[in-house]
Amino acid sequence: MPIAKRMDDDDLLRYSRHILLEEFGIEGQVRVSASHALVIGAGGLGSPVALYLAGAGVGRITLVDDDEVDLTNLQRQIAHTASRVGQAKVQSAAVAMGEINPTILVRTHVRRADAALLEELVPHADVVIDCCDNFATRQLVNQACVRHGKPLVAGAAIRFDGQLSVYDTRDTASPCYACLFPPDAHFEETRCAVLGVFAPVVGTIGVLQAGEALKLLAGIGEPLAGRLLMFDGRSASFDTLRVSRDPACPVCGQRHTTHDATPG
Ligand SMILES: [Zn+2]
Repeated sequence: MPIAKRMDDDDLLRYSRHILLEEFGIEGQVRVSASHALVIGAGGLGSPVALYLAGAGVGRITLVDDDEVDLTNLQRQIAHTASRVGQAKVQSAAVAMGEINPTILVRTHVRRADAALLEELVPHADVVIDCCDNFATRQLVNQACVRHGKPLVAGAAIRFDGQLSVYDTRDTASPCYACLFPPDAHFEETRCAVLGVFAPVVGTIGVLQAGEALKLLAGIGEPLAGRLLMFDGRSASFDTLRVSRDPACPVCGQRHTTHDATPG
């Protein structure tokens, strides 16, 4: 198998428990190792995402977050430590990732994910994982993913509730984030800093995001595209809603209307 030659003996050992999975195999690992993941946010969701993607050997991981590690983060943001309070979150997370897997390349941006930065980074990513904590950034990330045809794994958690989905507009039936949560809607901006958050809910959603990202990169399983998964940490229950593309969506709808309206 010539493909195996791209992995050395250490890689074969390091990733053996994924390689042993029939669906994953060496080919899946080679795809994961050759991939580039863009992670927006290095907080409660971004921590497990960053650690799991590093452990799994995603070859290049770019982290974006403009915040610093604070004592109140340590309850749930498991990539950070007491000794790194005051450091940039992306740098703290990069240290944790490097300790798990020094063979991957981690790039960090101590910046807010604004439209300009996303326009620069999203085209180079194979998957984008949105782990941010605010509605405005989620919309910007979604817009960049739709524009560049990149799959988006978006998660959110507050109090005891979490949700996630995969938005992959390469599939014309799959909605984008804005099909479900229109940019002009007046959602109450809910922040952990105000309302609190049950730490394992953040971990649960973040781990599921890492799983969806790895499935997309390895080309295995059935991604959550077209389904919104909701988790209730009080009752430990999951619900799944079928969701579809909104033809009138201001983000992904117009593009298709434009295409469809072109006279043949
Ligand atoms: Zn849409």
